[in-house]
Amino acid sequence: MKQETAHLAHKVIARCQTLAAFSEDSGSTRRTFLSPPMHNVHRAFAEWLQPLGASVQIDAVGNLRALYTASEDDSPRLLVGSHLDTVPNAGAYDGILGVVLAVALLEALDGRRLPYAIEVVGFSEEEGVRFGIPFIGSRALVGRIDDALLDIVDADGISVRKAIKEFGLNPAGIPKERLPDNVRGYLEFHIEQGPVLETLHLPLAAVETIAGQSRLELVFAGRSNHAGTTPMHLRFDTVTAAAEWITAVEHAAKAIPDLVATVGSVQTKPGATNVIAGETLLTLDVRHRDDKIRERAVENMIRHAHEIAQRRGLSVRSKQLMNQPSVPMDPFLVSQVEAAIAKTGCQPHRMVSGAGHDAMILEEKVPSAMIFLRTPGGVSHDPAESVSVDDVALAIECGLHLLNQLASAPTFQTRTLRA
Ligand SMILES: [Zn+2]
Repeated sequence: MKQETAHLAHKVIARCQTLAAFSEDSGSTRRTFLSPPMHNVHRAFAEWLQPLGASVQIDAVGNLRALYTASEDDSPRLLVGSHLDTVPNAGAYDGILGVVLAVALLEALDGRRLPYAIEVVGFSEEEGVRFGIPFIGSRALVGRIDDALLDIVDADGISVRKAIKEFGLNPAGIPKERLPDNVRGYLEFHIEQGPVLETLHLPLAAVETIAGQSRLELVFAGRSNHAGTTPMHLRFDTVTAAAEWITAVEHAAKAIPDLVATVGSVQTKPGATNVIAGETLLTLDVRHRDDKIRERAVENMIRHAHEIAQRRGLSVRSKQLMNQPSVPMDPFLVSQVEAAIAKTGCQPHRMVSGAGHDAMILEEKVPSAMIFLRTPGGVSHDPAESVSVDDVALAIECGLHLLNQLASAPTFQTRTLRA
């Protein structure tokens, strides 16, 4: 098995590299939702999948769907996949590795049919680059695409609806893409996109939960004035207030285990060397696996901003832009992933995903689980993004164990789609 998986792992990496060349930009990878190079990606996957006995189709939102039937008709179905779209100046593995790995698993089965069908899914949209709204591909499978979403336009004024038509698909078919009742689970292999596994010297991990997220905008308002003529004790400077608050946010986050908080953008107005800034706008992003801990932390950070403002004679207002609850992965599948990792000889490890993934959309309807692969340097969303061939081989091995475990697990065969 080792030799076979090592061979497949090299092939997986070569395929990811091939696909990275299908890009809207020359010299770098950028493949947004239903952009022309997505046709090339679909063609490549069809060429790889059809000889393995899988039937390939592109659904009404441009998802690649390839069905590898079960040993018997009327059998349940397992989805395995990830996304095909990328950010601008992307690496070659984020998302697409999970789809290429799914193909490798079919290849490793070498014609063997299981008591359930496997559907390889390559989601058309996850990153939210083109329309500013993520997960368009996976939303279609859980029936979460409505007219309002189809009317959203991109930077060129093209709506989602029109983009779908221009790609040669029919948006009227979207409601039919909802998953059928025989789907029993969704598995997603994905690079970790962080430094945790590398730090722990572990190649793989089972994702236990996808962290919840709060996003806010906060504005300190004071008074702009002359930087030379206004004495220090007569100022209403919003930049110094913001600086104090940013440090407090960092402090607060470090005091709560596993909480991450980021002030990613600071804009000062008027933003000149010789003017005290009368207004400073900041963003705040807070994530944690436990929604209560996250919400309490955000409340405390806002309260702290008000204290700082009051002490400095300023005002502050905040606006919540996002309050996305955490999504626990399916406990049965997570334990199966752990068992499969152990069978490869690696130490099983559970972790929280700080980033959102298709699995969190699917989990609404389908029991879902994710397997993270160690990301060298923790680098992603960058051409330097990479993955080691040994880790990919272990992921294939883990995937095969998982498929075999599920084939003999009554719990898996009989469970149903969520209402
Ligand atoms: Zn991704």
